[in-house]
Amino acid sequence: MIDTHCHLDACEPPVAELVGRARAAGVGRLATVGMNGPSIAHALMAADDHEEVVAIVGRHPHETAGFDDLALEEIERAAAHPRARAIGETGLDYYRDYAPRADQHRAFEAQLELAARAELPVVIHTRAAEDDTFALLREHAGSLPAVILHCFSAPDRLEECVERGYLCSFAGNVTYPKAADLQVAARELPSELLLVETDSPYLAPQPVRGRPNEPANVTHTARFVAELRGVPYEELEQVVDANAERVLGP
Ligand SMILES: [Zn+2]
Ligand SMILES: [Zn+2]
Repeated sequence: MIDTHCHLDACEPPVAELVGRARAAGVGRLATVGMNGPSIAHALMAADDHEEVVAIVGRHPHETAGFDDLALEEIERAAAHPRARAIGETGLDYYRDYAPRADQHRAFEAQLELAARAELPVVIHTRAAEDDTFALLREHAGSLPAVILHCFSAPDRLEECVERGYLCSFAGNVTYPKAADLQVAARELPSELLLVETDSPYLAPQPVRGRPNEPANVTHTARFVAELRGVPYEELEQVVDANAERVLGP
């Protein structure tokens, strides 16, 4: 199984311990996100040190205040690393509005263009900004190898996602009792677009809710989604691993 989205630098336990516990739970692959300069360096180091880990490199919408050419060059350099497999997480977050919206837009478009140039998939973070996020994706997605909607939370736009072939990555919140709409989406999504993630250390799935999350817990979310879809865990694992390998590489 793969955890397609975690923040190893934000987890308390050391990387080696998190990777070891993931392995013991049957999670042999982790994609960790670098979302600013130091975080990118941490992600690439984790990927260099552990064969299980690959890196996603970019500038999180929260971190885009004053985004400039230097910031873009930093991502472009990181993206050339052989263990960097996607650009992100990028997108728009109007819920927190930690960075001015004009800066968020500039950084998002610049990273979409970079992903096209580097021929890398893009990992999208969107919160309370779906109209603008999907509009920019409509403009740019055609030139990208893949679009991954991390912590998928737009069940009302499932049709557009399927039509355009966006991968939808479900996080621990799909397991919460009140997530009925999200659960319908996780059941109906065509299997070739399905991914799962932890977003560790955030969003721990129901069985471990309230505790710091870690990559090993992606098995809880995967098991829950398998039950929703009425397939054995092993079958879901094969589907998710194949999808992840297609977009993030081996
Ligand atoms: Zn995010
Ligand atoms: Zn994240």
